[in-house]
Amino acid sequence: MRTDTGQVFRLEDYRRSDYRIPETRLAFDLDPEQTTVVSELVIERADDSAAGAPLVLDGDGLDLVALELNGEALGENAFEATPDRLTIHALPTDSTFRLTITTRVNPSANQALMGLYRSSGVYTTQCEAEGFRRITYYLDRPDILSVYRVRLEADKATAPLLLSNGNPVEAGDLPGGRHFAVWDDPHPKPSYLFALVAGDLGVVTDEFVTMSSRRVALGIHVEKGKEPRAAYAMDALKRSMKWDEEVFGLEYDLDVFNIVAVSDFNMGAMENKGLNIFNDKYVLADEETATDADFANIEAIIAHEYFHNWTGNRITCRDWFQLCLKEGLTVFRDHEFSADQRSRAVKRIAEVRTLKAHQFPEDQGPLAHPVRPRRYREINNFYTATVYEKGSEVVRMIRTILGAEAFRAGMDLYFERHDGDAATIEDFLTVFEEVSGRDLSQFALWYHQAGTPNVSVKASHNAATGELVLDIEQSSPPTPGESRKRLMHIPLAFGLVGPDGRDMVWESVEGATIEHGVLHVRKRKHHVRFTGISERPRLSLNRGFSAPITLSVEEKPEDRAFLARHDGDLFSRWQALGGLMSDAIIEASKHLRDGRKAEYGREIPELCGVIATDDRLEEAYRALALALPSEADVAREIGANIDPDAILAARNGLVEAIAAANGDTFAALYDQLADSEPFTPDAASAGRRSLRNMLLDYLSSGPGATGRAAAQYRDAGNMTDRSAALSVLVMRHPDAADTKAALADFETRFGDDALVMDKWFQIQAAAPGAGALETVRTLTTHPGFSIANPNRVRSLIGTFSSANQTGFHRADGEGYRFFADIVLQVEQRNPQVAARLATGLRSWRSLEPKRKARAREALLRIASTENLSPDLRDIVERTLA
Ligand code: ZN
Repeated sequence: MRTDTGQVFRLEDYRRSDYRIPETRLAFDLDPEQTTVVSELVIERADDSAAGAPLVLDGDGLDLVALELNGEALGENAFEATPDRLTIHALPTDSTFRLTITTRVNPSANQALMGLYRSSGVYTTQCEAEGFRRITYYLDRPDILSVYRVRLEADKATAPLLLSNGNPVEAGDLPGGRHFAVWDDPHPKPSYLFALVAGDLGVVTDEFVTMSSRRVALGIHVEKGKEPRAAYAMDALKRSMKWDEEVFGLEYDLDVFNIVAVSDFNMGAMENKGLNIFNDKYVLADEETATDADFANIEAIIAHEYFHNWTGNRITCRDWFQLCLKEGLTVFRDHEFSADQRSRAVKRIAEVRTLKAHQFPEDQGPLAHPVRPRRYREINNFYTATVYEKGSEVVRMIRTILGAEAFRAGMDLYFERHDGDAATIEDFLTVFEEVSGRDLSQFALWYHQAGTPNVSVKASHNAATGELVLDIEQSSPPTPGESRKRLMHIPLAFGLVGPDGRDMVWESVEGATIEHGVLHVRKRKHHVRFTGISERPRLSLNRGFSAPITLSVEEKPEDRAFLARHDGDLFSRWQALGGLMSDAIIEASKHLRDGRKAEYGREIPELCGVIATDDRLEEAYRALALALPSEADVAREIGANIDPDAILAARNGLVEAIAAANGDTFAALYDQLADSEPFTPDAASAGRRSLRNMLLDYLSSGPGATGRAAAQYRDAGNMTDRSAALSVLVMRHPDAADTKAALADFETRFGDDALVMDKWFQIQAAAPGAGALETVRTLTTHPGFSIANPNRVRSLIGTFSSANQTGFHRADGEGYRFFADIVLQVEQRNPQVAARLATGLRSWRSLEPKRKARAREALLRIASTENLSPDLRDIVERTLA
C-alpha cells in the first residue's frame, strides 16, 4: 500500500512537462504472478530551455528489471530508481531519444484494483487517475498524449481473448501454448486511457455503421454463459452511437469498439479508448435478474462511457483539477440522452433527487469543494457528486443562459478548436463566450466557488395597482477554506401562476433581466417590479431546477397545494408536493420528539389520491410524486440536531395517513396496473411497474398487511416486481413469517448469482431499526459476502451507512463502531473503496449531541490508526476538520 507523503497538489503549481512522449510501445508477457512489461518510449525534449533537466518518471510500487537508453543499458550512476520514481540524470543532447524500461508486476496480488490486476481469472487494467504508474514508469499525467502500440502475450488456453485500445493489427500462435496479439491506437491519448484485457470470456457481437458509412465492429465481452444478459447493453450502445451523431454531430473513430464486464471494479465503468471496461453490474441484465432501475442505469452508463470518446478522450483534461471538464460535461450528455430515450420530466426529477441526495450534503458539509477544485491530496477522492452531478448542472445552466442553438454552436466550436488537446475549464467557457458574445466571468464562479447558494424571495402584490414586487436576495454559506463568497450569476426559471392555473403575462418589468422565462439573479438583491398583474399569483420558482440552489420562500401551504395541483410545469408540481410532504414530516417529527401526537392534515392524502389516478400524467411521474422524501432528505432539510428515530416515525405516520385516506383507490389501481403483457424494459412499462410498486408500499403499511406483498413476491414474473415486494416486506414487516419465507426463497433461487444477491444484501441492510446492525453484522459472514469485492461492500455496508438512518445512526453508537471496523478492514486491500465508504460519516455534525459525539469517536479512531493510506487519511481528516 502506498504511504502517505502528505503532499498537497495545487492548481496554481501547474507547469508543462519538460519532456513529451510522442510514441509508446508496450509489450506485456502476461503471467498471473510475474508479468513482464517492456515499455519503449520515444521521448522528446519540449524545448531548449529544458536541456539538462533530468527526466523524472512516475512509478507506484514498481520493480525495475532493466533500463536502456537508445538501445544501451544505462550505467548505475546515470539513473536512480525507487518504487515510486525513476530519475534519469545523464541524457543525450539530441532532442529525441529512446528509453526502454522493463518492469515486473504481480497482477494476482493487486487487490487495490488499480493498475494491472486479475478479476475472476481475467487480466484487466484500471489506469484512471494514476494507475498506469503501477504498471510502468511514465509521465503519468493527462497532458502527455502519446500514440500507443501494444503487444500482448499470454497462455492461449486460459486467455484466448487479448484486447487493448485501438484497432487489432496482428495475432498469432507462439510455442509453449502461448499466443500474441498486437493493437494499434492511432489517436494520441493520455496514459489514464490505456487498457488491456486478457482472459476467457463469452462475447456478443454486432455492427454499427456510422454517419459517414464507416463500419464499426462492436463486441461486449462477459462471463461465459451470461451472453444473453448483454443484449440490452448492446442495444443501448447502438442507440448511444446514433444519438451522438444526431444531437452533437459526433462520429466514432475506430474500426472496433469493445466493452468488457468485470466483477471486481472500484467504480461504475471506465472510458478507455476503444475498450471500455465496466463493472458487470452495469452491463448484465435480463428481466429475471435485473430491475427497471438496473436497465436504466445500464443505458445511462453505457452512453456515458461511449460519450467520453469525444468529451474526455479526443479532448482530454490538462490536469486533474480539470476533471469536471470531461465528467460534468459527459454526465450532462448522458442525462440528455436518457431524457430523449425516456421521459424528460421524469428524468429531470430523478436527476434532481440524486443531486439533492448526494451532492447537496457534500456541498453543505466538511468535504465541500468547488466543481473545479484548487487543491487535493488524493485525486481519487475527487470523483465526487460535486464534480460529476453539479458539474453537469453547470453545463445545463450554460445552455439555459445561452439557449439551445448558441449552446450547440459553442459545443461545435469546442470540438473544432480543441480536438486533440488537453484542455481546461477556461477553454470550455471561452467557446461559449465567443459564440454568444456574453460575458461568463461571473457565471464561472459556479466552477470555482463551493457551496449551495440560497435564493430568498418575498412577494408583495397590490391588487389596486396591478403591481407585483419580488424582493430577491442571494447568499452563499461559507465552506471549508472559503469563508467569504462572491455573488453568483443564478439563472432562475419561473412562472407567475394565475388562479386558472395558467401562467400570467405581465405588461412591464424592471429590476432584473428576464429572458425566455428565466430571471437572471446577479446582484445580492433584486427589487423586481411587474405591472399588469391584476390578481395575486402563486410563484412557481426554479422551474426544471434551472439552478442547483436552495430556495427560501415565505409560502402559504395553500399556495403550495395549489401549485401541486395546477402548475403547468411538471417539475414544479412535483417540487411543490415534495415541499408539502417534507414540511409535514418535519412538523410531525417535532411533535413526536416532544411526546405529542403527530397530525398530518387532509391536504396531502387528498393530493396523493388525485395524482395517483390522474390519467393525463405518466405512471412514472405519478410514482415519483407519491414517493415521500427519504429520511435522509428530511434530515438534510432539518439540518441540525437530527434525531433519525423521530424522522422515521413521522414519515411512517404520513405513509399510513396517505394509505388510510386512499386505501380503496390504491387497491383498485394496484389491480388495474397488473402486467398482462410480457416484460419489456421500456420506459412506459417500467413506469407502470414503478407506480404499482409504490402503491404496494402504501397498501402494505398497516399492521399485519403482508398478504399483497407476499403474493406479489410469489407470482412475480420479473426482478423489478420481485425485489420490490421483498423490499416492502423487509422494510414494513421485518419480523413477519412471510418476510422470512421470501428472504429464504430469494436466497435459494439466486444464491449462485452474486449480482442478484447484492439486492438481497441491500434490502436487508436498509431495514430500519436498532436490530439492523446485528443483521448486517451477521451478513458479513455469509458465504456470498466478500470484503474484497467492491460491489458486495457497497451493497451491504454502503447501503447500511447511506440508506439506513435509524440502523446506522443507532443512539448507542454501535453502528459507527462497526462501520469504522469495516472501513479499516476494507482499507487493508482497497484504500480507494475504503475512502469512499468513509464519506458515509460526512454529515456527522448535524446529528443530535449524543450521536454526534459517538460518530466523532469513530472518526477519530480511524484517524489515529497507523499507516493509514493517503486516500482514507485525506477523507477522515477533512471530515473532522
Ligand atoms: Zn465519466
